[in-house]
Amino acid sequence: MTSKTILITGVTGYIARHIALQALEAGDRVIGSTRDLSREAALRDALRANLSDPAKLDNLRLMALDNTDDTGWAEAFDGVEALIHTASPVPVRQPDDPEEVIRPAVDGALRAAKAAYAAGLRRMVMTSSIAAVTSCPIRPGHQAHDEQDWSDLTRPGLSPYLASKTLAERAVWDWQAAEAPEMRVTMINPAVVIGPPVGPEIGASVYILRRLMQGKDAFLPRLGYPLVDVRDVAAMHLRALERPEAEGERFIASNKFYWHGQIARDLSAAFPARRIPTRVMPDWVFRLLARFVKPLRGLVPLLGTREEVDGSKATRVLGIQYRDTDATIRETAQALIDHKLV
Ligand code: NAP
Repeated sequence: MTSKTILITGVTGYIARHIALQALEAGDRVIGSTRDLSREAALRDALRANLSDPAKLDNLRLMALDNTDDTGWAEAFDGVEALIHTASPVPVRQPDDPEEVIRPAVDGALRAAKAAYAAGLRRMVMTSSIAAVTSCPIRPGHQAHDEQDWSDLTRPGLSPYLASKTLAERAVWDWQAAEAPEMRVTMINPAVVIGPPVGPEIGASVYILRRLMQGKDAFLPRLGYPLVDVRDVAAMHLRALERPEAEGERFIASNKFYWHGQIARDLSAAFPARRIPTRVMPDWVFRLLARFVKPLRGLVPLLGTREEVDGSKATRVLGIQYRDTDATIRETAQALIDHKLV
């Protein structure tokens, strides 16, 4: 593959660090954006520690860009050949005002896409989510959600984050169809992403494992989610750039569904000294708790639901062979221990 210059927005993020790492490793030049350039030194340290050759870090440059502000975007794409847009709020707790996450997600996606197009770029990959896919019934005759499904935002009780991802992805497809027919767009729609972080900063999804490792909850709710390794998700973004078959397509990134209790039991078996609670609470107890603990309320409709998603298109079209998720869970937990985060 010939090397290229890629602008990765939100490069300080959990997933974007892995994308940057793999791109630098492959010899690409990376321009990474952050809202806060004081994070650059820590990012460089984390990437350096993971690169096969520290000299590859010379191919990284950082710049300040904010999803909610026009400053810098018009000049950002000078010499850039492709955009990977990951920057979007991923709140650990949902805000009271949904617009707090919806506006930066939607405006940021459009701001990045439009600025890239105006600068002459014709290729972008964006990190969407299965949040934009799964809040709708599975189609008759299908066993799982796939890339043809779209979340139905008229459903009651959906989280602001879910709305933000659905609206941002829709906005980009609609803009591309109406105003930018030459822009070749690919969406990556990951399930819950886990895997060892690059450096000691973790994204909201790894908090799920961290909380289990910390043994904070004596009993676990009957919740579950499909999981995927962050290194596979990063590879999908970069493979999509290489493959014309990926243009105009969505790709779910998902390997395997896990119940919370099952993850806890696996972790407890792998780290017996850690006393990780594995008992699952009855749904009625969780419902009662949720009456008093507001952040739990959004989870009530998900109790006992098994959300099947089909991530096989990424294997067929992008050649992704998903990593073994049992191993990823253990590696993530070990990384949390190594970084003294648990
Ligand atoms: P993360 O670690 O929180 O990274 C997101 C990055 O986006 C942050 O480092 C932040 O960079 C940037 N950002 C946030 N709000 C911004 C704003 N208003 N303007 C500009 N930049 C902003 O999250 P992540 O887990 O890596 O997620 C990355 C992407 O993957 C997101 O689009 C997310 O929705 C999607 N995704 C994640 C998962 C998952 O399980 N983690 C699953 C599906 C989809 P600065 O603070 O440095 O500006």
